[in-house]
This record gives sequence, C-alpha cells and structure tokens, in this order.
Amino acid sequence: MNSTSDDGPGEPIAATFSVNDRSYSLPTRPVVVICVDGCGDEYLSTSLAHGRMPNLAGVIPKGYRGMVRGALPSFTNVNNASITTGMPPVATGFGGNFFIEPETGEEVMMNSSKYLRCGTILAAAAKAGRKVAMVTAKNKLLDILSHDLEGIAFSSEFASQAEEATHGIGNVEELVGLPTPPIYSAEASLFALAAGAKLIEHGLADFLYLSLTDYMQHKFAPHTPESLDFYEGIDTQIGKMLELGAVIGITADHGMNAKDKPDGSPNVIYLESLLDGEFGPGNKVILPITDPYVVHHGSLGSEAMIYLQDPSQAMAIADWVFQLDGITEVVDRPTAVKKLELPGDRIGDLIVMSARDVVVGRKPEYHDLELVKGGLRSHGGRYEEMVPMVISEPLSEEYMAKAAGDPRNFDVFDFVCNGTLNR
Ligand SMILES: [Zn+2]
Repeated sequence: MNSTSDDGPGEPIAATFSVNDRSYSLPTRPVVVICVDGCGDEYLSTSLAHGRMPNLAGVIPKGYRGMVRGALPSFTNVNNASITTGMPPVATGFGGNFFIEPETGEEVMMNSSKYLRCGTILAAAAKAGRKVAMVTAKNKLLDILSHDLEGIAFSSEFASQAEEATHGIGNVEELVGLPTPPIYSAEASLFALAAGAKLIEHGLADFLYLSLTDYMQHKFAPHTPESLDFYEGIDTQIGKMLELGAVIGITADHGMNAKDKPDGSPNVIYLESLLDGEFGPGNKVILPITDPYVVHHGSLGSEAMIYLQDPSQAMAIADWVFQLDGITEVVDRPTAVKKLELPGDRIGDLIVMSARDVVVGRKPEYHDLELVKGGLRSHGGRYEEMVPMVISEPLSEEYMAKAAGDPRNFDVFDFVCNGTLNR
C-alpha cells in the first residue's frame, strides 16, 4: 500500500502511505505529534493567559487551535492506541487500561501490543521511508506504541535502558543531556519532549510521536505555580522543535477534573459494595483506569465496568445504578459497542460513567486513599472527553471545515499530514 517518490538528491523523501483505510500525505518537514496526557484545554488557556507559553501563543494565530473529541473511556491506553492508529477503540481493541480476558477470566492490564487489532501510523510511516521515533514518558505504552515499528522507540521512565538492538537507539541520556527522570515528576514528560527535539536536531528522526504523562495534571490544577512551570517547560521544547522546522500537532488523550467533596476527601461511589448490598455478592466491578501508576489516582476514575453474575439482570441493575447520585450514564454492552465505539469482547456487561466531580470505586479496601490525600484529580468519563488540538501551520479550507464538524483526537495525524499548508 506504500508509494514513495524521491524529490531528488538532497531532498527528504516525500511519500504517501495508507494504513487502516486512510492515506497520509507526508510533509517534507519533520512531523511531530504530541499527546499531552491529561491536558484539558484549561491547562493551555491558563498557561497562555499567564504568558507562560510564548511559543504556542506565537503559532496559534497562524495555525489552528480548537477542541476535538477523544475516545471513551477517557483513559491513556485507549486514546494512545486510537491516536497512533487513527481508529476508534472498537477497531484498536483497547477499551481500557485494564479488563477481564474472556478466555482466561483473568484481570489483566492492557499494556501489550498483542491486544492491538490494527496497524499503527508510526509503523506505516517507517515503512514509507520516514525516520520514525516514538518516545513515551510512561513505559507501559512502549510495547503498544512501538508495535511493528522499524525505528526508534523508548520511554523516559527507562531511558537509561534503551539499546540500539531493542529500542533503535542507545545512550539516550547522553543524547538528551539529562538523566533518566523519576516517573512521578514533571521531568518524565519534559524528557520525552527534549528527546524529540534532540532526535530532530541530530537528524535521527523526522516523524515523531511524543506521549507524555499526566502525573502533573493529576496532582496540580491549571493555575498552580507547579502546573504553570510545567507548561512553560513544555512550551520551551515546542519552541525548539518549531525552530528545527517541525510541523507540530498537539492534542491530549483526555482531560482532568477535581473529584473531591467540599471537605477535600475523594468523592467516591464504591459501586461493588453498593451492588453487594442491593443484589447480593457476585457482580464484579472492574476499573479500567487501573495501571501501574497508582500514585496518580489510587485506581479511582470516572468510568467502571460491571461484569454481571446473571446477565439477564442487566436492565434491572442498569436502572438501579443509573438512579445513584453522581452516576451520569449506564449502558449495556451492545449499546457501548454502538454508541461508545468500544470493543464488545473487551468490556463488561454494563459500562458506568460518573459526574464531573465524582469517581467510581470498587470497595473501600481496594483503594489506598493515602495516595491521593493531597486532592483527587482524575478522568475516565464523559467530562474528560473533549480535549484541545493545536496545529502549528494553517489548515486548508477542507480541514477547517472538518475541524468545524466532529473532529477526533485520533484525527491529529490526518490533520498534520493531510490538512496543513506550508509543509
Ligand atoms: Zn491519568
């Protein structure tokens, strides 16, 4: 499906390639797509209003800034799989970070590319001749996002362990000029961006996907000094990549909202406990936010799946759960496939989403609230679905019209590759 044509000696390879029934026309300039994990638009607005993102402020008037709809549930793995394939979860197979494997009945984290059901734009761009690099702050995404990729792929989290044979590059700390950062830090994200800039500068990559971590957004609201410093750091690296001639698309996997009661304690509905009390034990609540980074959220998010002991009770239980204060949506599996674009074999019998300031837990003993005692900020539901998209170059008329419709965060490569002028 790939066609490449050489523009002549000394020119970068221009190419058009197709993957998952979409074609991408490659700009000759370096292409960078950044997924700022947990970046609700208020993070950009507030940082811009404080004058902390001068480079972004410089590109918005000539480029594009708007809102796009992410995939539900609004979690990291779900949306990173979608962004890098250009496809909704029903096609990627990623309906959460965590699920029950139907074949084994085991509760497993979806951190492996074996769960990925379609090819990535990154792998296809590499096959079309581009020098592709994927840098993720969180190592949990590495296997998924580097699937079938002939290029560079490593995580900030384990940057010091990257090797030529396995990651397409070694001595990453030396290249970036920074030590491997701790995962619970602003630096984990900034390292990924700095690595991207260095890879372009050294001619090692010209088609990049940089995926950050939402540790900072989980811990700090947009107006806090910590958050403003963090966004300034992001902006500095964006500035470096712009200076190197990159065409940049920025979006997020999901937003972030405070989930506390007025007294500051987490606003949790312990759904499995409530179900046990009303219907007796046996219905299992699975929380697809569950991942290795428990300090972020204590496994508390705004979406849950119920695996029913008796599926014939689905309607009765759905009606009862929907009446609970703080629950905003309950859909059964067929509806979730149709309306939420979720893969039917990777989700529970019922999908439950909670209000903007409410999270769903399993039972109190499953959650260590000490981890989030500074305040719980989390995501997963409808209220973290809309995220920003910024494109550093002007869009064609066709793509301005597309942006005015129902653009998705997983269209970002399409916008950058097919929609930009001055490329
Ligand atoms: Zn998160």
